[in-house]
Amino acid sequence: MRSREASREKKSSAAEEELAMAATPPEKWRTSGKRKMLTTAFFMASCLAIFSAFSLFAGVRRHASPPMQQLPLLLLPERPPADQIGFEVQSKKSQGGFDEKGACLSRQQSSFYRRSSSQKKLSYHLQKKLKNYEALHRKCGPTTDLYRETSFQLRSNHSLPPSSSSSECKYLVWISYSGLGNRILTLASAFLYALLTGRVLLVDGREDMASLFCEPFPGETWLLPSDFPLLPLEKYNSDSSFSLGSLSRVKFHGDGARFVYLHLAHDYSQHDKLFFCQREQHFLGKVPWLLLRSDNYFLPSLFLVRGFQRELELLFPEKELVFHHLGRYLFHPANPVWGLITRFYHAYLAEADEKVGIQIRVFEPGTGPFPHVMDQVLACVLNQKLLPKVKSMGDEAPDQRKKKKKKKKKKKVVLVTSLSWGYYEKMRSMYWEGEAEGEEVVSVHQPSHEEHQKSGDRIHLMKAWAEMYLLSLTDVLVTSAWSTFGYVAQGLSGVRPWILVRAENRTMPDPPCLRARSMEPCFHAPPFYDCEAREGVDTGAILPHLRHCEDVSWGLKLFDPPY
Ligand code: GDP
Repeated sequence: MRSREASREKKSSAAEEELAMAATPPEKWRTSGKRKMLTTAFFMASCLAIFSAFSLFAGVRRHASPPMQQLPLLLLPERPPADQIGFEVQSKKSQGGFDEKGACLSRQQSSFYRRSSSQKKLSYHLQKKLKNYEALHRKCGPTTDLYRETSFQLRSNHSLPPSSSSSECKYLVWISYSGLGNRILTLASAFLYALLTGRVLLVDGREDMASLFCEPFPGETWLLPSDFPLLPLEKYNSDSSFSLGSLSRVKFHGDGARFVYLHLAHDYSQHDKLFFCQREQHFLGKVPWLLLRSDNYFLPSLFLVRGFQRELELLFPEKELVFHHLGRYLFHPANPVWGLITRFYHAYLAEADEKVGIQIRVFEPGTGPFPHVMDQVLACVLNQKLLPKVKSMGDEAPDQRKKKKKKKKKKKVVLVTSLSWGYYEKMRSMYWEGEAEGEEVVSVHQPSHEEHQKSGDRIHLMKAWAEMYLLSLTDVLVTSAWSTFGYVAQGLSGVRPWILVRAENRTMPDPPCLRARSMEPCFHAPPFYDCEAREGVDTGAILPHLRHCEDVSWGLKLFDPPY
């Protein structure tokens, strides 16, 4: 709230300053016949300028003036977009390595790089929820006494007395697991769960989280302190006796559990899946600490939990935008990653009339490039007219070429991301060796070719995050089926991608790609269980906005009907 008021005040004083400047009469006017009118205008504007200087002075006493990098925020609309809520943070009380050297540049500057999304506003209810969450995070965050008290209880070997279940602060600890795309999706899912259950989200800071993301919440870190009593987090897995699955198996639903581990990874058991049932949620609601490990975007199945449905309806009137809003709110590239993004953007993308992003992720064993994948990508972009076909060399008569020179051609820039270099090489050569049909020139660029996934390599992860983000800045997106890397890009971008259908037997699929009907990511391992009836059910046929994914037939995804 404070920040919005400050922003409004600064906005009006900047406008008044501009008015005062404009009212200063140039030399040549002084002798003209309009002098009287101008003198009056000048007098009024001067009064306004003096008044505004006065109020600015008074305002400055209350609100420290923003650093230079924050100035673009003065242009914020009344209700800022998701990626600008909470911008007042700027590391006032940063702990654990996020933002320590200064402000989060991506949060301040992202609006200059993104397409404006006037159609994609946050609901009022979601804005309010985020603000309340930020207050809760400040109240209970890792540097507070309340955190110390609540985490101290974890050191005790005894179960908690029933009264402690009403503790002021409850927590959800997110355990870092799997590839970066998976991590971003599970973190967004965990955050929504924290919002719905009034918990504080704390993030396992291993795997260089601090080098990748800015702190999302104002005034308090989201990083789990290194002296957290339940470390090391690696010990929690599908066999853990503290898991919801294990507790459900022995029918433990009583008060007094100090913590419960939620195993929501691809190999979770039927008992672990009870997480998505109202009865288990009631039990979990009494537990102060929850630890969560997942490699799945489990968020869609939260829409099946009866107790969350009303709130979710208010928070997200448009179901297709859930990750779009949460992702833009939570994930701001840290400054070094922002450097990778902006340098590449200005060097290759900024001058484009249209930017086409192509994400090529191949899950087959062996090193690419594979001919069937190259054929598929080209068939997709050419058949769907995302890119122009190419004439063979010497196809044009000289007089035609002369005529065409006069017209300014549309500049299409293609951003390819892939672990392999080969697909990019082929496309780049194609548009160099032959002229593009129509009135377009095409250039092709790829930021990196890392050859294979390198877990735990900081620079590799920074490049991966930068590339997901760069893809999200394009106008047209082609993504690979099954890839969470692509899901993150499409969700952040706010465009429905063309999905490259997953190939079988090293053969190009027919059709090579299809248009997504929703930009939401897909939950690859949803439960198929009706908690009320206690029997199996197709969970993709219960709610109008929860259906099977285009790329994973058994997966679940949010849509806005009709689709
Ligand atoms: P998914 O496996 O496609 O669902 O995506 P993940 O992001 O979870 O895991 C794949 C990992 O491989 C990424 O996080 C990167 O580390 C790496 N990777 C895959 N594709 C690319 C790419 O196009 N560029 C870069 N830089 N890394 C990639």
